[in-house]
Amino acid sequence: MPAIHLRNLTKTYSGAASPAVNNLNLEVKDGEFLCLLGPSGCGKTTILRMIAGIEPISQGEIAIGERVVDSMEQGCFIPPEKRNIGLVFQSYALWPHMSVAENITFGLKVKKLPADEIKARSQDVMNKLSIAPYAKRYPAQLSGGQQQRVALARMLAVNPDVLLLDEPLSNLDAALRLEMRAELRRIHETFGTTIIFVSHDQWEAMTLATTIAVMSEGHLQQVGTPHEIYALPVNRFVADFMGSPKLNQINLNQPESVLAKHLQQRFHLPKQIDSCGIRPEALILNKQCSYDALAMKITTIIPTGGSWIIELSNGAEPLHYSTQLHPQWQIGDLVFCQFPDDALHFFDADGTCHRF
Ligand code: ATP
Repeated sequence: MPAIHLRNLTKTYSGAASPAVNNLNLEVKDGEFLCLLGPSGCGKTTILRMIAGIEPISQGEIAIGERVVDSMEQGCFIPPEKRNIGLVFQSYALWPHMSVAENITFGLKVKKLPADEIKARSQDVMNKLSIAPYAKRYPAQLSGGQQQRVALARMLAVNPDVLLLDEPLSNLDAALRLEMRAELRRIHETFGTTIIFVSHDQWEAMTLATTIAVMSEGHLQQVGTPHEIYALPVNRFVADFMGSPKLNQINLNQPESVLAKHLQQRFHLPKQIDSCGIRPEALILNKQCSYDALAMKITTIIPTGGSWIIELSNGAEPLHYSTQLHPQWQIGDLVFCQFPDDALHFFDADGTCHRF
């Protein structure tokens, strides 16, 4: 049974020229850790707010479990407090005048649970999130990471069907963000809660999510495992958005490009294919020439800590190669570059991806 089912969901803000979310169909399975990923303004937060019930929908339907909670057609609307959903914002939104323990027990008291259950649940969640030692402190007396844990604990204590997280790591510094990513994975494994997580950071999505839904301009582009999204993108947008350094894109309509000619001849490409993409780590560089290799010159070598980005040129647009092995070449060296068949993504004029 899906935890969340979005059917033809659309949101058009008043006065907007186009919908912020456009006819979205998405199923989130029970226990899944789904990341809504996309650039700023693509509609991620709007989706989260509609699921939570704090943003009215314009068209379509939202179901949580088997229960329809919002439907224009059926004229049904279940208010946020009756959806059993936990929403954690970027800003954590903790109550400043309440201690950690009070912040956590507040939601349980609202639910009118017996006092001993409130105590047991809040103690359990504080232990699991390692915040029990701070139970009596106030939010202002906590670090960003500790506040983040309290915000999560407060939501997990009420045992929500779904936890919605809106870029909850973006206010943390890089080291803490890494730590909290591991923490979020552990929370997901420990509690088994269905999580929908909003991010514009592809690495965050790749390292955390079991499923990624890529959005662009209100439209869902692709849903899949992190590996599928990275290795088998359905279109140019997804291929280009994922990966750093970026996908190499080779324009096949350049008569003077040796590389374009090489790929055209090798694959007898149909007319509608206008470009080819290959990930920087998928190129193979050799010292010796082979029948399927192209001679290219090394123009730049950029160390990036544990890896290197090497820029290659054969007169046309440069290509980037990335490696974790210390490069054995110098700037100006001639190398022979291979383009493995199974690493090539071909795009037509509409941006749809094909593999041959
Ligand atoms: P970000 O990553 O920057 O938070 P996002 O992907 O979450 O972006 P949304 O906040 O959902 O995107 O916004 C989607 C679109 O809707 C944007 O064009 C935004 O300007 C617009 N929008 C968001 N909230 C409102 C609002 N209350 N009124 C009018 N337009 C809005």
